[in-house]
Amino acid sequence: MKIRYPKEVDIIFKELSKSGYSRYVVGGCVRDFLLGKEPFDWDICTDAKPEEIQRVFKDFNTIPTGLKHGTITVVVNNKNIEITTFRTDKDYVDNRRPREVEFTSSIYEDLKRRDFTINALAYNEFDGLVDCFNGQKDLNQKIIRAVGNPIERFSEDSLRIIRGVRFSAQLGFDIEENTALAMTNCRELLNNLSKERIREEFLKILMTDKPSDGIRRLILLKLMDYIIPELIECIGFEQKNPNHNKDVFEHIMEVLDNTDKDIVLRLSALLHDIGKPRCFTVDESGKGHFYGHHKISTEIAEEILTRFKFDNKTIHAVKLLVNEHMSRYEHLREKSIKKFINKVGINNLDKLFKLQIADIKGSTPPHDFANIEYLKNECIRIINEKEPMTVKDLDINGYDIMNLGLAQGKEIGDILNYLLEIVLENPKLNEKGLLIGQARQKLQQKDIE
Ligand code: ATP
Ligand code: MG
Repeated sequence: MKIRYPKEVDIIFKELSKSGYSRYVVGGCVRDFLLGKEPFDWDICTDAKPEEIQRVFKDFNTIPTGLKHGTITVVVNNKNIEITTFRTDKDYVDNRRPREVEFTSSIYEDLKRRDFTINALAYNEFDGLVDCFNGQKDLNQKIIRAVGNPIERFSEDSLRIIRGVRFSAQLGFDIEENTALAMTNCRELLNNLSKERIREEFLKILMTDKPSDGIRRLILLKLMDYIIPELIECIGFEQKNPNHNKDVFEHIMEVLDNTDKDIVLRLSALLHDIGKPRCFTVDESGKGHFYGHHKISTEIAEEILTRFKFDNKTIHAVKLLVNEHMSRYEHLREKSIKKFINKVGINNLDKLFKLQIADIKGSTPPHDFANIEYLKNECIRIINEKEPMTVKDLDINGYDIMNLGLAQGKEIGDILNYLLEIVLENPKLNEKGLLIGQARQKLQQKDIE
């Protein structure tokens, strides 16, 4: 077997060899290469100590990425390549991070501290594949297996538990029995992890080809209680409604699998009905309803996303999609469609329609997309006409209103919104003189009131 590395790796290898150090490509890139996939990034490990790496690459741009942990980033041809000194991890604190690392000259020791056998692989052109833990065999048999004793390894760093599920979801691999058992047994340790670290791994699960598989695995291994416990309430929750042939959880899973690989869309699909169990009612005929579930789901979505410290832009977009996922109309006046576009925001419209289509696909057939197609086409038509749609598009602004004798404050916004209503109805009236006249009239009317 021969791995062909990119030019940049060649350059780094040459420099390290010139100074007498050993070096390998290691971890994910070797795994991906053996799987016939284009590696995402090429990590290099070496027996050179961090200061020695810096010395070897003194004529290059280097970044002391994780100096303490032995990682130096070298910039070659504008590409960042991480070089890490062979190391062993010592004394884990809170099942998270090693208190200190010890550098070693042994590639075996370095592979031993890695999480799974399929990641504990290294390669160079002299030694070929260095596979001390049968990683290649597990790759061929599609198995995720911890390196060494799984309980010990998960106790050192419990993120490995979710990483294992993530790799199994990304690669479609099974998890070896003892490794899986240890994941469940060590689940309490997930409480010690930072939400950000969990979030990044969970997102990778959410972005796989069939995210429901990864989610089901998290539930099966009893890990979901430590990630999104709200989702557990949905499992087996019967909807008792002819529109729904699945329980809430199964419906969510189908909607999720029917969405494109987009973070906002996938999160919205996962959370769009999460509040259903909390607003279930049954009418006299025995039919189930979930009045206002989009609102409760939006609240729960905000809680979850804030808990995981998502950025405000993502939180806002997901809340919007969840809140609007039930907005389906047979017919709307042009003015109302413009208001709808305003509320959703032009940039979110496409995602909303995609979510709605996935939602219908996850419900009882026959699947009727007519209302969504209608609204989508109307939105496209109206947007293309470029008629005024927001206060910003008005031929008048807050200062013009102030010039009519109003002091700064909420009333200015009220008047502008009043004028927008007029213009949404009749775009021809978007002309400064006319609008000032309308504003005057409105103000006089107010005075009389
Ligand atoms: P990806 O395709 O997501 O980049 P990867 O395997 O390269 O997958 P990274 O997080 O980039 O994953 O880590 C690189 C390598 O470092 C892994 O292949 C593994 O050998 C090791 N590693 C990463 N995180 C851990 C961890 N928490 N515990 C042990 N080893 C780890
Ligand atoms: Mg990687």
